[in-house]
Amino acid sequence: MKEVKVDVLIIGAGPSGCIAASYLFNQGKKIKVVEKSKFPRFVIGESLLPRCMDHFEEVGLLNVLNDYGFEKKRGARFMRDGVVCNFDFSIKHSEGWDWTWQVPRADFDNVIAKELVNRGVDIAFEHEVIDVDFNDDGASKTTIKDEHGELYSVEAKHIIDSSGYGRVLPRLLNLDKPSSIPEHSSIFTHVKDINRPEGVEGTLITFDVLGLDTWFWVIPFSNGDTSIGFVGKTEFIDSFEGDTTKQLQDMLKLSNYYSKRFEGLDFKFKPASIKNYSKSVTQLYGKGYALTGNSAEFLDPVFSSGVTFATESALKAAKLITKELNNESVDWEVEYTQYIMKGVNVFSTYVKEWYTGNLQTLFFHRPENPDVKKQICAVLAGYVWDETNPFVKKHDRLIKNLAHLLNMNKNEKAV
Ligand code: FAD
Repeated sequence: MKEVKVDVLIIGAGPSGCIAASYLFNQGKKIKVVEKSKFPRFVIGESLLPRCMDHFEEVGLLNVLNDYGFEKKRGARFMRDGVVCNFDFSIKHSEGWDWTWQVPRADFDNVIAKELVNRGVDIAFEHEVIDVDFNDDGASKTTIKDEHGELYSVEAKHIIDSSGYGRVLPRLLNLDKPSSIPEHSSIFTHVKDINRPEGVEGTLITFDVLGLDTWFWVIPFSNGDTSIGFVGKTEFIDSFEGDTTKQLQDMLKLSNYYSKRFEGLDFKFKPASIKNYSKSVTQLYGKGYALTGNSAEFLDPVFSSGVTFATESALKAAKLITKELNNESVDWEVEYTQYIMKGVNVFSTYVKEWYTGNLQTLFFHRPENPDVKKQICAVLAGYVWDETNPFVKKHDRLIKNLAHLLNMNKNEKAV
């Protein structure tokens, strides 16, 4: 069997794998990326957060992405029962980017991967990781199947597992653990958005809240297509009869605001459905490997944190591996797990408090409190490590306490 030797093997060429690859390549490390599918390939996860612009900039990918002309995302709109809560990323507590993109991921991921290949990064498409053996010192031998079904092996000092829902190392090393996020499922597709209104309205990312657990996303792209999808408890999604096309057609009738715009449009592909999508692991690293992106953790799409977490964790893992390859010592527990979990825990609170209704109380209470809004907006922009923001530092108490106060006030007025 053919053998290849590298410093770092990266599994998966999504945003997580490519950010790690780009950083390590720029540092002159010998790397190989193996990607199971042929690009461009569809993947969900189309609304980005400003924080991930920092990552693209740091690894030198911003210009090529900018040149492509993806739709700019300057905020996000949440609506419920006719009340609209508009977040504008330029009005937020933390320093940082005030815009990002909303992207068809097939194109977005392909632009990044192609750019890396042009720069000389070794990305093997249609090569699938089958098995991994670790030595006691953390070095590994990975068995890979190429596009012709031939097996070969890669010896690596480190592995970054960025395999997304492939979850290669969590599966092989038995690292999966149940997520603490309540179970939800989703059904989604793209449409040619021929009824799209002119101007800003036609480009807005919107979360149309239909119930405590049920919401509908609208993500318009610059190519004229729009991503539409429903999220709800698994029982809710399953309560719709027929195939996914019929289910999504029937769900669309639930949105008073959008049903006319999307009524009768052909779906660009048979709606896909992902059930109980939240994932977690028992550990984020081990001797010789780090898990990044969805392979490590996925919470919920409601605040679009997936890609940003994927790029944040990949960049961090790549930096720590570079240090080790340069013979510097790394405390993975502190520098990786504790750092990453700080951000994950903030988003995790926001997701949980969204589904308890407490965060919805804050979003839709009128009149709005401009300071609170700026602080929450910084979290929604992905700046979840900024402890000068009370809504980051005291995330576990503040949302709950404030919602409680607002609800008490409302009840007193009603008496
Ligand atoms: P991926 O982008 O999934 O890339 C992993 C790659 O690994 C794939 O290309 C795959 O082919 C490859 N791979 C898998 N197994 C193997 C193997 N054995 N060998 C080699 N390669 C392999 N996130 C957002 O930021 N915004 C959103 O609006 C959003 N909406 C979402 C909606 C839903 C319903 C769901 C479920 C998720 C959503 N997400 C969203 C999350 C988003 O999809 C992920 O967080 C993001 O794609 C993770 O990127 P990644 O690079 O970790 O993985």
